[in-house]
Amino acid sequence: MALVNEHLLKLPDNYLFTDLAKKVNTFKVTHPKADVINLGIGDVTRPIPQACLNAMHKALEDQAKAETFHGYGPEQGYSFLIDAILKHDYASRGISLEHSEIFINDGAKTDSGNFGDILRHDNSIGVTDPIYPAYIDSNVSCGRAGTLGEGYRWSNVIYMPCSPENNFIPPIPEQRVDIVYLCFPNNPTGTVLTKAELKKWVNYAIENDTLILFDAAYEAYIRQPDIPHSIYEIKGAKKVAIEFRSYSKTAGFTGIRCGYTVVPKEVTASTLMGERISLNKLWLKRQTTKFNGASYIAQRGAEAVYSPEGKEQVKAMIDYYMENASIMKKGLTSIGLRAYGGENAPYLWVKAPKGMTSWGFFDKLLYEAQVVSTPGIGFGPSGEGYIRLTAFGDRDRCKEGIQRICQNI
Ligand code: PLP
Repeated sequence: MALVNEHLLKLPDNYLFTDLAKKVNTFKVTHPKADVINLGIGDVTRPIPQACLNAMHKALEDQAKAETFHGYGPEQGYSFLIDAILKHDYASRGISLEHSEIFINDGAKTDSGNFGDILRHDNSIGVTDPIYPAYIDSNVSCGRAGTLGEGYRWSNVIYMPCSPENNFIPPIPEQRVDIVYLCFPNNPTGTVLTKAELKKWVNYAIENDTLILFDAAYEAYIRQPDIPHSIYEIKGAKKVAIEFRSYSKTAGFTGIRCGYTVVPKEVTASTLMGERISLNKLWLKRQTTKFNGASYIAQRGAEAVYSPEGKEQVKAMIDYYMENASIMKKGLTSIGLRAYGGENAPYLWVKAPKGMTSWGFFDKLLYEAQVVSTPGIGFGPSGEGYIRLTAFGDRDRCKEGIQRICQNI
């Protein structure tokens, strides 16, 4: 008899998005003429930059000829892409990394979830609250998060609440934690950390022998010049931090699938007997065992992000979304709503007025403005009383959505 991994049974059936879809569906059925605007969508909507499309067309043609055909590639990724990453994402910021410290993948969700494979099930974990739900869920699925308790809190997870009182900057925990997840620019709050703030985390990790899993999926949205794009801009981070990057939100690759993980050789973790093990070596072992590489076509597309035309087109796309964010934020604040984020991230974190709950405000927006948002409670206990809006939509629809909110709230 095969036995199942019962930890997976502890995960509610994606309750947030199921409930959300059900509510939107019910509204549409009962209001067939309503023109619903989705400002809750966490996916990009603009077409892929032309430079990436051209590169992928060419890569597909390569597959049509025996001389240029590519079968299985290296599990860690093709050198053409790794070299471009080292040069454009790191050397340009004064960060020196080795070729073998970069691992190309099919997206940040994959590796931020899979990285737990090389870490023991009984490490303690710390997360900012609210948080991108996949970090906790992937820990639940291997038993590391413990059991679900009151207020939707997992027993083995240390929550670091982020609120207006601390400018949504996670407080350093008082106790030591084995693994900490940090995501900046943040989904869902849109917060960024300055160098000084990020340095505190790196110092904490060095002093407490903590591993930082740093998700920089939205680094391309940073506009302020003094905000770090990579955790390795902080001295000492190469000893304690893993970094996840993605082309999903940078270049519209949510449907193409390509990203990468940086695992510096200096990062180690311990065996029970106290032997220090290189996580780079262990991750390589894990990847060569379970992963057969991201597609050649996707990697050629990603490489083109770094070409002069690619850079220009990516910038234009991000400018478009960030202009949406700016318009949305202006509109919301003009009617007295408290809206955070939207300046270095495509997310707006909006406080529900008059003490309303997340779901209460969600319903009000849906029924009175025909606008779909995402209830903040879905991102963790500290998300109660907030909704998340995204700037990934079409400009005119974003404008109209905000106009309707302004007229109806
Ligand atoms: N990390 C964060 C913080 C995200 O918000 C998302 C997607 O929404 C991801 C990772 C997943 O990115 P990818 O498409 O590269 O898997």
